[in-house]
Amino acid sequence: MTELNDLPLRDELRGKSPYGAPQLDVPVRLNTNENPYPLPEALVERIAERVTEAARQLNRYPDRDAVELRTELARYLTRSTGHPLGHEQVWAANGSNEVLQQLLQAFGGPGRTAIGFEPSYSMHGLIARGTGTGWISGPRNADFTIDTEAAVRAIGEHRPHVVFVCSPNNPTGTAVDEATVLALYEAAQAARPEQGALVVVDEAYGEFSHRPSLLPLLAGRPTLVVSRTMSKAFGAAGLRLGYLAAAAAVVDAVQLVRLPYHLSAVTQATALAALEHTDTLLGYVEQLKAERDRLVAELRALGCEVTDSDANFIQFGRFEGEGGAHAMWEALLAHGVLVRDNGVPGWLRVTAGTPKENDAFLDAVRAASKELK
Ligand code: PMP
Repeated sequence: MTELNDLPLRDELRGKSPYGAPQLDVPVRLNTNENPYPLPEALVERIAERVTEAARQLNRYPDRDAVELRTELARYLTRSTGHPLGHEQVWAANGSNEVLQQLLQAFGGPGRTAIGFEPSYSMHGLIARGTGTGWISGPRNADFTIDTEAAVRAIGEHRPHVVFVCSPNNPTGTAVDEATVLALYEAAQAARPEQGALVVVDEAYGEFSHRPSLLPLLAGRPTLVVSRTMSKAFGAAGLRLGYLAAAAAVVDAVQLVRLPYHLSAVTQATALAALEHTDTLLGYVEQLKAERDRLVAELRALGCEVTDSDANFIQFGRFEGEGGAHAMWEALLAHGVLVRDNGVPGWLRVTAGTPKENDAFLDAVRAASKELK
């Protein structure tokens, strides 16, 4: 049988594993930062209506530029952040992963580099690899905030073409303040005075933050990009719809690399239906934020160390010793609760679920802590 390594695979992909959290069938799944609430029935019906309409025209290609959808996304961003945007400043693709990939296809690539401050969302580095972009792992403080001075120094030293800032950061939950983003943006432009460098703020979890969105920083900053997703706050991970806001010229740039008709008519119809129900969906976000804060407080009361969280998940620990975090991960799984081991030594990550799921998780932590003593 032909093995992967027998194939004429690109050298940088040899021996690598695909991204992926285990998809296990257990009672309580709190490992992929999904929204635990299914879409409300009225929205499910509206999706059926909109998709039926789209189905009548499936013999035709969809709107290649997804203008109606981008207009509604721009309206949502304007309304929720107070920063006025039109559809020319918004782009959409199949999940924010595809948005990030398009950005690296357009602004990274062979001979170019991107930097991120780790631990952070591992797909930033993996998409860099997939697009032939060199990856630079920048530092963080021990409390997982970005060390602004060290980050500015790293940007000056490596002169990356793309800088990733994840806020709130996955897997730590840490939000990044405005001053830090501005310092990184200025450092990135100073390091590449000819044309500047792209700074991508990944706000996949933006709606869950205690802080306002960083999106208003787009004003007057032509190489700043904010990426968002409907996978988390809109409870639509299965839809695969991510989007970005940036200067219109950045949107022109990603159109050079996007595949024609990349967003199916079914996807566009479904996303438009979901946007009609924004207020209801954001109501669930408020419940999740309250549950997230409760989990932080209860885990601390149990004696866990918990990183302050602005996301719909929490980094908790600290599990001492080699393999300590993984032993806890296994013990929780034995109690029917799946959390995430991101490989950050000593720490695990749990997604805020429904109150019942969170209670089951807390019970499992209590039981597992006793067993592992
Ligand atoms: N950015 C971050 C920080 C994430 O955690 C995720 C999903 N885990 C994504 C982007 C991608 O999400 P999607 O492709 O579903 O929009």
